[in-house]
Amino acid sequence: MADVPEVLFTCTHNAARSQMAAALLAREGGDAVRAFHVGDAVHGEIDWERRFQHMRLHTGQHLASALLFSATGLRTDKAILGKGQATIDLEGSLPAGFDVAGWVRTYEAAIAADRSVQVRHLTLAEYASAPAPRSGRIPLPPGIERVRLIEIDGYDAAPCGGTHLRSTGPIGPIAVAGPSPESPRRWTFTLGAPVAPPTPSG
Ligand SMILES: [Zn+2]
Repeated sequence: MADVPEVLFTCTHNAARSQMAAALLAREGGDAVRAFHVGDAVHGEIDWERRFQHMRLHTGQHLASALLFSATGLRTDKAILGKGQATIDLEGSLPAGFDVAGWVRTYEAAIAADRSVQVRHLTLAEYASAPAPRSGRIPLPPGIERVRLIEIDGYDAAPCGGTHLRSTGPIGPIAVAGPSPESPRRWTFTLGAPVAPPTPSG
């Protein structure tokens, strides 16, 4: 059953719509799909090796967004994380004559400096009054009361609910491709050789 697509239905107010949807899919899909609904008991396991490589890439994206913002004044409009590769779309094109190779050296030095990555939880008022620059343009989701802030020592503070390294060093080798004439706002980051994850704790 491992390769069978799995679909999880949820609904607001838990009004039995997810159960109905799952039953309908099970009837129509037969053995070709597995359907879950609200109230189902499931068992999940984290693939720690895969998770750790994703944490490398994601922390590398935070650091890159921060350094691109400080170097160009351009915020990150969109960041997409894939398997071993991330893209960052800036809100505009690079200033004329921007030294991409020089920026990559700065980025690699910041990784090697092994700066700490901290998580803080702030009220909305605390977040609004925090003086830290914002390297991303993604607005906070509506209705939240506390902000989970990811801080890279000396570089950035960004709201995020994802998983990150505890410091920048384990980002490790990462290849950078700057914008092209076809994609003048897009930067691409590709992880180098896998870094062995530490033993998970807590
Ligand atoms: Zn994040």
